[in-house]
Amino acid sequence: MSQLTALISVSDKTGILEFAQALHALNVRLLSTGGTAKMLLEAGLPVTEVAQHTGFPEMLDGRVKTLHPKIHGGLLARRDLPEHMAAIQQHGIDTIDILAVNLYPFEATVAKPDCTLEDAIENIDIGGPAMVRSAAKNWKDVTVLTDASQYAGVLAELKASGKTSDKTRFACSVAAFNRIAQYDAAISNYLSAIQDDGTHAQFPGQMNSSFIKVQDLRYGENSHQNAALYRDLYPAPGSLVTAKQLQGKELSYNNIADADAAWECVKAFEAPACVIIKHANPCGVAVGAHAAEAYAKALQTDPTSAFGGIIAFNRPVDGAAAAHVAKQFVEVLMAPAFSAEALEIFKAKANVRLLQIDLPTGGATPWQQGRNAMDSKRVGSGILLQTADNHFLKAADLKVVTTKQPSAQELQDLLFAWTVAQYVKSNAIVFCAGGMTLGVGAGQMSRIDSARIASIKAENAGLTLKGSAVASDAFFPFRDGLDVVVDAGATSVIQPGGSMRDDEVIAAANERGIAMVFSGVRHFRH
Ligand code: 5GP
Repeated sequence: MSQLTALISVSDKTGILEFAQALHALNVRLLSTGGTAKMLLEAGLPVTEVAQHTGFPEMLDGRVKTLHPKIHGGLLARRDLPEHMAAIQQHGIDTIDILAVNLYPFEATVAKPDCTLEDAIENIDIGGPAMVRSAAKNWKDVTVLTDASQYAGVLAELKASGKTSDKTRFACSVAAFNRIAQYDAAISNYLSAIQDDGTHAQFPGQMNSSFIKVQDLRYGENSHQNAALYRDLYPAPGSLVTAKQLQGKELSYNNIADADAAWECVKAFEAPACVIIKHANPCGVAVGAHAAEAYAKALQTDPTSAFGGIIAFNRPVDGAAAAHVAKQFVEVLMAPAFSAEALEIFKAKANVRLLQIDLPTGGATPWQQGRNAMDSKRVGSGILLQTADNHFLKAADLKVVTTKQPSAQELQDLLFAWTVAQYVKSNAIVFCAGGMTLGVGAGQMSRIDSARIASIKAENAGLTLKGSAVASDAFFPFRDGLDVVVDAGATSVIQPGGSMRDDEVIAAANERGIAMVFSGVRHFRH
């Protein structure tokens, strides 16, 4: 068999020396670009520089290195067509059989906060993607490697049979086109967000997705639907997709959706908190002195619904918390850490999915807070895109609109209720007191029904709403909804305000002798 030729041109040099050494040991001829060639030569490998091979120097600061017919002809010639082979022979072009390329680090460059437009532009690889496309198009004859994780498999096939299989070459071609699509999407997204004054738009100019598949799921929301989980190229630290599963059955589509709701909600609290989710809605949320207490309180809200729930903590789960939780049927349990004792307790419950997720380290941007900057929702043949609801209320933002001022305790309860309401599907009504939910009304078409349901649920759980604080995710359009929550026992209310009938609702609150505050923001969640 004639000698194979490999062209190696990589920005990320991880694993490349070992790969090139192994190719050399298999009698593969090595071609390489400037920086890569230098590294391989220094390691004592016989390498021909592309510049020497083409007879044309690298030029324009590396903008032109491999853009030459001797390279692209060698990659694109069809070995099964005599005309192709005659043409390259006529022009003195050798075939190239293996291409290992990874691209200028555009994504990593623009992820840096101090990246300038100039830095970004210089990190747009031109010749690399061109070669990758040539090789990937000619997959029947050329093996293209675009990721270090592919080196070992290709080497194993070359060692075993002197060539790669059709299956491997095709898979490498698909991976190569995926990589190029992702790379171009990153460039397009970045450049489209730059505004006339050079700053970045809050909102993307383009929404070319660059997601990476994490795993296929057994099925979607229902068993007749297919599904998979994808993640951002650079997931935010502390976001759900960074979770490590420590034990338990494979996560399902609904598990992941509910786990996300639980994790987003629990991250919103500073005190030790526990959130129990069912069907994407919190059925119990509480803060406490420690994880075990937060759980005990959260469970009280709605122990019936909590059965088979998804539970999240924002503190490590210790033995005490684990012993409590293990008494109930739980689908998924997530926390920043689990003590050895906690892990031991859950060993006996092998089906429980334990997820360890680091809390975000914090910072000014949503990404640093482990949150998405953008939210999307598929609609018929389209996609709705919005900046995510990352508004977090502070006590100073509140406006008291009633004669009665809320007490310090009521203020604390109102803020707690408001935080929970942000994670409840609209219409949301949330009764709270003493750092725990007492009744949650979710997803109703009328606010008054959500209010009734929340109070019925509190009654069913044997909890009193007397003296409770209540949050409404959007304004009360009439006084009737307010009357329902006051009849149930609430003595303080938080709502956005902004209704045409605010005056009527404020007058009702004064008449009933309760305290009401306006948040000035709404938290619809659908
Ligand atoms: P090296 O470190 O070997 O000098 O450069 C390797 C990098 O150059 C790889 O990321 C590869 O994709 C890129 N590259 C190869 N050929 C060209 C070219 O003709 N133009 C540009 N802009 N980049 C190239």
